[in-house]
Amino acid sequence: MSLINSTATEALDLLAKGQITSVALTSAYLQRIADTDDQIGAFLRVDADAALARAAQIDQRRQAKQPLGKLAGLPVAVKDVLCDSQTQTTCGSQMLASYRPPYDATVVARLKSADAVLLGRTNMDEFAMGGSTENSAFQLTRNPWDLNRTPGGSSGGAAACVAAGMTPLSIGSDTGGSIRQPAGLCGVVGLKPTYGRVSRYGLVAFASSLDQVGPLAANTTDAALLLEAIAGHDTQDATSLDAPVPRFSAEIDRPLTGLRIGVVREHFTTGLDGEIEHAVRRALDVYQSQGATIKEISLPHSKYAVATYYVIAPSEASSNLARYDGVHYGHRTDRAELLDELATEQKELESAGDREALKNIDNGLVRMYRRSRAEGFGPEVKRRIMLGAYALSAGYYDAYYLKGLKVRRLIRQDFDAAFQQVDLIAGPVTAQAAFKLGEMAGDPLAMYLVDLYTVSANLAGLPGISLPCGFTQSGLPIGLQLQAPPLAEDTLLRGARMYEQATEWHKKKVPI
Ligand code: GLN
Repeated sequence: MSLINSTATEALDLLAKGQITSVALTSAYLQRIADTDDQIGAFLRVDADAALARAAQIDQRRQAKQPLGKLAGLPVAVKDVLCDSQTQTTCGSQMLASYRPPYDATVVARLKSADAVLLGRTNMDEFAMGGSTENSAFQLTRNPWDLNRTPGGSSGGAAACVAAGMTPLSIGSDTGGSIRQPAGLCGVVGLKPTYGRVSRYGLVAFASSLDQVGPLAANTTDAALLLEAIAGHDTQDATSLDAPVPRFSAEIDRPLTGLRIGVVREHFTTGLDGEIEHAVRRALDVYQSQGATIKEISLPHSKYAVATYYVIAPSEASSNLARYDGVHYGHRTDRAELLDELATEQKELESAGDREALKNIDNGLVRMYRRSRAEGFGPEVKRRIMLGAYALSAGYYDAYYLKGLKVRRLIRQDFDAAFQQVDLIAGPVTAQAAFKLGEMAGDPLAMYLVDLYTVSANLAGLPGISLPCGFTQSGLPIGLQLQAPPLAEDTLLRGARMYEQATEWHKKKVPI
């Protein structure tokens, strides 16, 4: 059996028993990357030499019987949004194309101290804004199930590399669905933890009150293993929760007795694809046959979730992205070109005799900010900055941003009420399976609507997971989403594992 066919949990066991080495395992995955990533484009950079050196070091330490971390010798890929002092962090943006962080994000530091082998950095929508990875400034990523289709986004690279067997584990981030949606479209497991469960220190900020880091893997047990390694309180992040981290993977096979699953009435609306609805309803039957009770619930404010998200997220983004001005951070425009531009404009105004305009002409500094930002950011990021700056501006603040915060509270209250009656909420991840590359380019609103089922969990701060629950007639994966109350990742994972134990969807391999 090829090494890359074992799960992360199995590989960890083989490593611990000395039946395989981390160098052999890492080499097998690097080979798979070399064989397939030309077609898929999941990785922005593969750090093969560093990964092999690290694997060799871990093998040596194991031979010398030195203590090892929880993920010792296992390859992990990291979305290019988390700072790592040993490599660039581009966020899929020209703005940060040459940025090298001086420090490690807490998640990266925890992976290193768990003795994971970091394989490289995965592609993403620029600053995590998007749902198809097409907003990356660097390359397209293709869905391993159909190369003409998107892997989803913004963690498209993170999902595609797991789906294609290029790594057993990968790290993504989820502000409005960016772990769960690509996981769903690529047929892998992706978990967005409770807000505050995983440290955001060193995660390049998009919308700070919504951003969370989480695991992607080929099955729920592996996702649980990775979550354990990265979760937990961090004094460097003021919003990090000081709550104990259960050993999710140890308990995961224990089925939940008396499980009550809520099905949201508002989820089954006209936009939902028939094949997806069918797959989700069949998943509910599976739960029922395992003794769970299914109860219809209502989240009356969920119809406002996308609108609310697209006020709050851009507002926070416009503030967070103010730091990229070519001075504090990021790309700075060419000085010579800037001065040429200034001189040309001055000359034009002089010859037009426009003294007033000449007096008020933007000086070099303002011009430098403007040009640097114009060159460094792509169109979607600019759109978000403008939307956000508008929603926060005097006169509109109350009408948009403040109102958004109020609706956000109502959305959270709907969930609180629902979780009085049920333990988990089950439903679709997306209304459609993976769409064609280019299909939604030029239609930002259509792209925003893809987030229909995922943004609520971020607005309410809840954990959510996407897991494979079937395929369309044309062979595209379908995802099932489960959501749980805050800090109930144990219930979420055990509930997901129950379904996984009864089905085979997660075992299907991509045709490549
Ligand atoms: N698609 C959503 C957006 O573009 C979610 C992105 C994310 O979760 N990072 O904002």
